[in-house]
Amino acid sequence: MHTDPNCLFCKIVAGKIPSKKVYEDEELFAFHDINPWAPVHFLIIPKMHIPSLAQATPDHAALLGRMMVLVPQLALQEGVNPYPNGGFRLVTNTGEEGGQEVHHMHWHVMGGPRPWLRG
Ligand code: AMP
Ligand code: ZN
Repeated sequence: MHTDPNCLFCKIVAGKIPSKKVYEDEELFAFHDINPWAPVHFLIIPKMHIPSLAQATPDHAALLGRMMVLVPQLALQEGVNPYPNGGFRLVTNTGEEGGQEVHHMHWHVMGGPRPWLRG
């Protein structure tokens, strides 16, 4: 699997940097955001180093599909209220102008009662 030894999120997957794990399987990893904007705020990432959604190719379609299906499951597991009165927000910042700071693709899942710190 492609990893980048200098990448923060590859180090989290490898357990070299601690995280509060939400979920793990062979291909995917999820953990709490260290600086949450909402009562529930976690990140879902592929274990393989894909810099951003901009690098997604048809080869990644199954992986991305699995990630997407996991979002609502983990959101409920982590305590968001059910749709439609509850719900969540799914965000992936992509590139400098997209506001991306960590260049290992990650999807923010945010939810819980408002107000939120941001968003
Ligand atoms: P962005 O690349 O702008 O989508 O944001 C990266 C996100 O990663 C931010 O929300 C940070 O709070 C979060 N983050 C940075 N370092 C860590 C870490 N060590 N553990 C968990 N979340 C982190
Ligand atoms: Zn990485």
